[in-house]
Amino acid sequence: MHELALAEGILEVVLDMTQGRPVKGIHLQVGALHAVVPESLQFSFQVIAQDTLAAEAALSIDQVHAVFQCNHCGEMTDVETPPYNCRSCGSSDVAISAGDELLVDSIELEDGTTISKPTPTDAALIDGHLKEHMVSNKGFVDHRDVA
Ligand SMILES: [Zn+2]
Repeated sequence: MHELALAEGILEVVLDMTQGRPVKGIHLQVGALHAVVPESLQFSFQVIAQDTLAAEAALSIDQVHAVFQCNHCGEMTDVETPPYNCRSCGSSDVAISAGDELLVDSIELEDGTTISKPTPTDAALIDGHLKEHMVSNKGFVDHRDVA
């Protein structure tokens, strides 16, 4: 289900970047903290993108390692997969410094053109989209009684 929400955010960014041109491939950078299963994300994307110009696009995913610092002993740990515990003392009380990335790195069009826009804006767009979803899933605060 997690991948479905990510796929929606990715599609939104991709369609915005390609402006109505058919998409052949999408290169993503996904931090380990998103715990994305590439096959699952590809499948979710195909479901979401059907009937759009990105329907045939193949995703290629660069996994970014999770990097964090232990709040107990200060040790830096760098891992690809959970658990996200300090490798020195085993504490789970850590401060994340990398691994929560989610970027559309570049897009390959049917005509061979590559669109590259590796800016933080893309990550912000996807994150913003996900936050909207989280808010709507939790329901809105009803202000009617306040007035
Ligand atoms: Zn530690």
